[in-house]
Amino acid sequence: MQTIQSNLEHIHQQINDSERKFGRPTHSVQLLAVSKTKPNQAVLDACEAGQRQFGENYVQEGVEKIQYFQEHHNDFDIKWHFIGPIQSNKTRPISENFDWVHSIDRAKIAQRLNDQRPADKGALQVLIQVNTSGEASKSGISTQQAVELAAVIDGLPNLTLRGLMSIPANVSSYEQQLHAFNQLKDLFEQIKSQYPQVDTLSMGMSGDMQAAIEAGSTMVRIGTAIFGARDYSNSK
Ligand SMILES: *Cc1c(COP(=O)(O)O)cnc(C)c1O
Repeated sequence: MQTIQSNLEHIHQQINDSERKFGRPTHSVQLLAVSKTKPNQAVLDACEAGQRQFGENYVQEGVEKIQYFQEHHNDFDIKWHFIGPIQSNKTRPISENFDWVHSIDRAKIAQRLNDQRPADKGALQVLIQVNTSGEASKSGISTQQAVELAAVIDGLPNLTLRGLMSIPANVSSYEQQLHAFNQLKDLFEQIKSQYPQVDTLSMGMSGDMQAAIEAGSTMVRIGTAIFGARDYSNSK
């Protein structure tokens, strides 16, 4: 039987192999475990196997998990990343509970997260969600808009701009995946040259992790390959 622990070991092996293959430094790619729709026990199993960074897409579900782990397993010192779409009326629980937000796509959301961040929590670590494939249906903003939003975020004291996140269009060929990821890498280098604290390029999921690492990802977001297929019938 595949366990969460053996799945994590397998993914770490794949990340290490890709780092070596593409001349990336060892441990330059972090693993974000995407635990959306999965129970606390699955997160606990991953923690016991050494995983400390988790991604959640739904506000209420994520906040419930964060509070459970603060109450019962605070010693794990988990870092929680919000990676889902953000409605402006949901910014407060995100800013009050999460450590990172990957999915900022407009100034209004950035401003609200900044204003609602509790003073004792330190700055919220944030990424701008970019969409280089230009499809109206996908979330994320254009390259030019991202450059403008970076300047807005840089002026907000309770947010620290750490980089970019993207979910490229679902394309089958490796070459197409690589092309989309390389565009993000170029924008990342441009933004990094302006804001020296920028160090995180969140791209790559279960199906396109290798191309993302070749192009320069520093954080891959993996759900299914760690926790198994998701059942959405009781998600919020
Ligand atoms: C669900 C999700 C993932 C993980 O996807 P898998 O295909 O299960 O690895 C990564 N990033 C985002 C933004 C997601 O919503």
